This record gives sequence, structure tokens and C-alpha cells, in this order.
Amino acid sequence: MSIFRALADKTFFFHGRNFNTRIIVPTVLVLIALVIATNIFYFTRFSHYSRQLIDDKLNANINSLNQYLTECKNNTKAAAVSMAINPSAIRAIANKDIPEISRIFTAAKELYGITYFTITDNKGIVLLRTHGYEKRGDSVAHIQNISDALNGKVSSYFEEAVVAKVTCHTGAPVYSANNKLLGIISAGIRFDTDQAVDDLKKILNSEITILYGDTRVSTTITHDGHRIVDTKLDPIMTKTIIENKHEYHGEAELLGTKYDLFYKPLLNPKNSVFATISLALPETELIFHSKKTLEYGLLLGLFGLLASSMLLYYIISSISAPIIKLSTEMQQVANGNLEIAINADREDEIGLLSKSLRRVIYTVRKLIEGINNMITEHQQGNTNYRMDTGSFNGEYKILADHITELANFSMKDQLTGMLNRRAFNNRIELEWSRSVREKTPLSILIMDIDKFKKYNDTFGHLQGDMALRAVAKVLTNTIKRSLDVVARWGGEEFIVLLPGTDPEGARAVGELIRVRIENLVIPCTDQQAKNVTISIGAYSMVPQKDDTVDKFIIMADAALYQAKEAGRNRVVVS
Ligand code: GH3
Ligand code: MG
Ligand code: MG
Repeated sequence: MSIFRALADKTFFFHGRNFNTRIIVPTVLVLIALVIATNIFYFTRFSHYSRQLIDDKLNANINSLNQYLTECKNNTKAAAVSMAINPSAIRAIANKDIPEISRIFTAAKELYGITYFTITDNKGIVLLRTHGYEKRGDSVAHIQNISDALNGKVSSYFEEAVVAKVTCHTGAPVYSANNKLLGIISAGIRFDTDQAVDDLKKILNSEITILYGDTRVSTTITHDGHRIVDTKLDPIMTKTIIENKHEYHGEAELLGTKYDLFYKPLLNPKNSVFATISLALPETELIFHSKKTLEYGLLLGLFGLLASSMLLYYIISSISAPIIKLSTEMQQVANGNLEIAINADREDEIGLLSKSLRRVIYTVRKLIEGINNMITEHQQGNTNYRMDTGSFNGEYKILADHITELANFSMKDQLTGMLNRRAFNNRIELEWSRSVREKTPLSILIMDIDKFKKYNDTFGHLQGDMALRAVAKVLTNTIKRSLDVVARWGGEEFIVLLPGTDPEGARAVGELIRVRIENLVIPCTDQQAKNVTISIGAYSMVPQKDDTVDKFIIMADAALYQAKEAGRNRVVVS
């Protein structure tokens, strides 16, 4: 089975009947999913935010750059134009006084915030370069701002000059009092020096690189402690920026570092790209922070996961362990083991469950005990059963009452409500052994209603039953002593046991019964219904060890036979 199908089959996780696997495994899975989802969410948010931040920063820097470039033109223009009307400067240029020109213009370049002045005569021959004193006497008339100035025009350009490769400069003509062209002042700001890019970096807060053509001529980006100058821009970028004159804003990798980059092409007077200024913001730090955030987030999440899993395990265990124990105990109880000791110390629902189980066990045991007591009592000759049902409730009480009732039913004759033969046999055994033990006499009377078949035939069975009940009532009312036993022996026959009674006593009781039956008025529905008489066979003995109950009864039966033979309605004691 593939792992996916196994996972999809929920029994993979839920086959155990243990709470731990049923609750902890799915919970941990959900938590893991949550931790991962949260981390991914925050990581993407953070990355997006980082990107945005870099973008915003670069955009701000681009604005500053454009502003700076405009300022460059303005500053060089202000410098050139101001110096062109400065009387000392005019005088020095008119006199071609080089030391004086040098003194004036060196001081002035600081004042105007520019990097150099180039001063020429009225033919465009260099009188002085503040950035290269030794190089002079050459013609710079071909350079556009000089050429414009020689024609009386003040103009500012980004342009390549003789010394400075990448520069922004303005040329201004210098006139004498009588409006004669004395020379040209060119004020410029260089971009192709270390100083220039370092200063720009301070202003623009980015790595600065100046490209002359496709070659990096100055940069703040270093590699192994060296500025990465004299390296080339890659061909695709060269095409975009230099050939197509497009600005570029995007990402690029440089010496293994990712940068957010902006390339601004600089157009010279011929409207072609001769140089490029680039701003670069390294992404390294933000990416590093993003990664760290992800790592910490994951670690924190996993730690939380571990802690909550352990807590969950503890909680589940503290519930499942006692439940598993209780369910095993319940199984044993269900299988009939009531000797088991249930611990019910807990105060919670599990404790309640245990207490309930304990009560069920207690009740069932009490019931069994009650039944066992009845059996013992039965073995001891008792014929009236009772069970202590005080601790029983509901159905248990009904059950106990019914069991007691059933036990008592088994000892009673249904028609007359007196003891039955089974009960009598029980009692006679008891009294017999007592008499054997105590050597006391024991008497028995067996009685049979005379001609009862005819009575039935004449008045019907219902009337016969009525007569049986009336006779039984006389017997129970006559036999009063607590140890005496009177029972229905079967059909219309009754039996009486008289412990501690001798033959004379037996005859007296028999005679009393006979007379009472003779005089008995039997309730009847039929006017014709008559009284009944009864024949009684009695036997009395002090039983010896070798005697048997059967013999005792046979002897009484024989006496009864004699009574019948002798004409009925009489007592014969043998
Ligand atoms: P004897 O004087 O010789 O004893 O004559 P008998 O008719 O009494 O004796 P027999 O044994 O011939 O008849 C017993 C009768 O008792 C048979 C039956 O109709 C009646 N009998 C036995 N048990 C019951 C009973 O539970 N209800 C009723 N109505 N009659 C019963
Ligand atoms: Mg009979
Ligand atoms: Mg009879």
C-alpha cells in the first residue's frame, strides 16, 4: 500500500483503542501543520516586507541621485558664471597670471562645492587645471562646454573631459571690460574618483559605482579589500543601458552578493551614453534576517509543539490510564469476578464511575449472599425465607423481593397457602435429628378427607377446593405450637408433625382435629353442600439412630389405613 493510501485510511491512526494514539497523534499532526503554515506565512510576509523596504529605500535614493545630478549642474553653473564676473579672476585671466589664477580658483572650488576648475585662454588652450597643475597648454576647444563658451554660450553637460573621464561641468566665457573674450572658465564635478564615490555614498546611502563606457572606473564596492574597478558590465546590461539608453532597476548578483540595483545612464552632448551611475543596496542583511526569523520561528514553533505534546500526553495519560484500568476491571466483573477490589479514591468523574461500579458489585454480591443464606436456611429446615433488602434500590430491590417470594413459593402449597410436602420433608429431617439427639418423642399425624372423590363428584371441584381450604384453615388454627409443623401432604391428605409429643398427646391433637372438621361449616355456593369428615393415622416414637423418617411415615400411613378400614372419621394411633 502506498504511504498516501495508508495515510488516507484513517485506521492507520485510529486502530489503537488507546486514547494516546487517538488524540495525541492527530493533534500533533494538526499542530505541526499549524507551525509550518504560520512560519511560511510570516516568512513570506517578512520577505515581502524586506523587498518592499529595499525597494522603498532604493527609490528614495534614486530621487536623491536625480536631485544630486541637477544640483551638480546648478553648482557648476553657479561656480563658472560667478567666477566669470569676478574682477580678480578676470584680471588674473587677462594677465595670464597662473599663480594668481591658481590661488583664486583653488580657493573658489571649495566655496561652490565643485571638484575642479579648468581655465583656458580665448582659444581654448588650458591655462590651469586645479585638478592637474602640471598638465596645461593643451587645447580643450573640442570639449562641448568649452566650445559653447568660446561661442559665448553658458552650457552644462555630463561629458568626458581630458583629465576627468566622467564629469558634470559648465563652461562660461570671461570678458574684459570692453567686452573682449579673455578666456573660458569650466567648473566641474568629477565622478570617476574614489573620493567622488565615497562622498556620494555618504549622501545617497548606497554603494556607488561609476562606469565609463562599460568599465567600472570608480566604486565603493570592494572585494578582498580592493575596489572592484576596471571590471566590465555584463553584455546584456551593456545593451540595455548603453545601447538602448534605458535606466535599469532590478536585482543582480555581483561577486556572490545579491544587490537591488539602479543604473542611470548619463548622456553626453551628442546624446549617447558615455557613462553610468549605479546605486546598489545589498540584500544580504535582510535576507539573513529573514532566514534567521524563519529558523527562530520554526524552533520556537517546534519547542511549543514539543511542550504542548508533552502536556497533552500528560493530560491524556492521567485520564486514559485509570480508564483503561477501570475498563479491564469492568471486563472482569462482566465475566463474573466479583472479588475484584475497585479503587475509588478519585473525586472526579472517573472516581464516580469507580464508585458506581463498586456499588453494582456490592449489590450483586449482596443478592448472591441473600440467595446463599436462603439455601443454608433451607438446608437447616427453615421454611420461611427473608432477605435483607435495606441496601437495595430500584430494580435490585424488586429482584431481591421476587427471589425471596419465589423461595417462599417453593415451600408453600398454592391452593391452601400452608406448607407443602417439600417444606414438610425439610422440617421433619430437622426435628428428627433433634429428637434423636435429645431423645424426645416425636409424633406424626397423617390425615385424609373421607370420601372426597364423591364430594368432588357431587359438588364439583371448585366446591372441593373450598372444602380443602376450610380444612387447611382448621388445621393451621389448631396446630399452634411454634415447633409443630402442619402441611398439605398431597391431594386431600394433610400431615402434622408434633415434636416432643407422646402417643397420648398425638391422639388428643388428632381427636381435636377430627371433631373440629366434623363440625366444620364449609362455605358453599350450593345449598346441598355438606360437611366433611377426616380419618387420622397417628404414630409416635422416640427415634433411634437406626430409625428412618420413611419408616416413621409408613407407620403413620398404616394407622390411617386402619382408621379407614374401621369405618372412617376416627383417629388410630399405632
Ligand atoms: P377415602 O374415604 O377412601 O379416602 O375416599 P376418597 O374418595 O376420599 O379417596 P380417593 O383417593 O378415591 O379420592 C381422592 C379424591 O380427592 C380424588 C380427587 O377428586 C380429590 N382431590 C384430590 N386433590 C384435590 C384438589 O386439590 N382439589 C379438589 N377439589 N379435589 C381433590
Ligand atoms: Mg386419599
Ligand atoms: Mg380420602
